[in-house]
Amino acid sequence: MSELFEIRNLVKRFRGLVATNNVTFNVRQGEIHALIGPNGAGKSTLVNQLSGELVPDEGRIFFDGKDITALSTARRARMGLVRSYQITSVFNDMTAMENVMLAIQAPTGGNFGMWSPTRRDHALVAPAREALEQVGLIMESNTPVAEMAHGARRQLELAMVLALKPRLMLLDEPLAGMSQVESEAMVALLKRLKNDISILLIEHDMDAVFELADRLTVLVSGRPIATGTPDQIRTSEVVRDAYLGEPEEMM
Ligand code: ADP
Ligand code: MG
Repeated sequence: MSELFEIRNLVKRFRGLVATNNVTFNVRQGEIHALIGPNGAGKSTLVNQLSGELVPDEGRIFFDGKDITALSTARRARMGLVRSYQITSVFNDMTAMENVMLAIQAPTGGNFGMWSPTRRDHALVAPAREALEQVGLIMESNTPVAEMAHGARRQLELAMVLALKPRLMLLDEPLAGMSQVESEAMVALLKRLKNDISILLIEHDMDAVFELADRLTVLVSGRPIATGTPDQIRTSEVVRDAYLGEPEEMM
């Protein structure tokens, strides 16, 4: 498998704190690469740099062989590097379909401010429908988000990413707050998607992580202490020592 995404020696400091301490690893084409580590390890800070929301102090980020370290979030999205939307960026009074249509338009530099949710832009309908179909939400296309169950909203977030035709998705806790049934459906969906779309996955549900991930990188205090397959990480002494032998402490 070839490398699609390369993170090289990334450093991010917040005053005295080194939140991202010389982080290096790569994500291969068609891979689910999980990023795990205890609370405060620096996972979100790292993802914010990968998506373009935070500027690293040192290091470089390459996507498909191109240096994207200085590119905006929108430019990265246009290249196919898309981060999952947080629930807060979903508009509750709009329907599922309208939210996906808006997501398609916003990062491409469209007239975000001018966009009227009641307007039907036919160029957006087809890709929006396709994305809703992919996540199993097509029956809820016209449901206002406010009336959707939590699990369905999380699926909608993913549809908003898929509608942008990503080559690599940055997913920050896609299973958070989901019921067992919703979670299993999401795991199955991510498995189906992964051969076409590479995924960098941050997730607290370790059963799901070890089931989904081709490889994992373990972050502790801003430093990557290990990268390897689920078996390698499970049996790694370095990882075990870092977690004091308590696997439930892993996240
Ligand atoms: P994780 O997502 O793994 O829980 P974070 O990336 O949120 O970890 O945080 C890593 C460390 O950086 C924590 O100690 C956190 O308090 C600190 N941190 C995160 N964002 C900021 C910020 N904007 N300013 C100062 N410190 C921050
Ligand atoms: Mg976090």
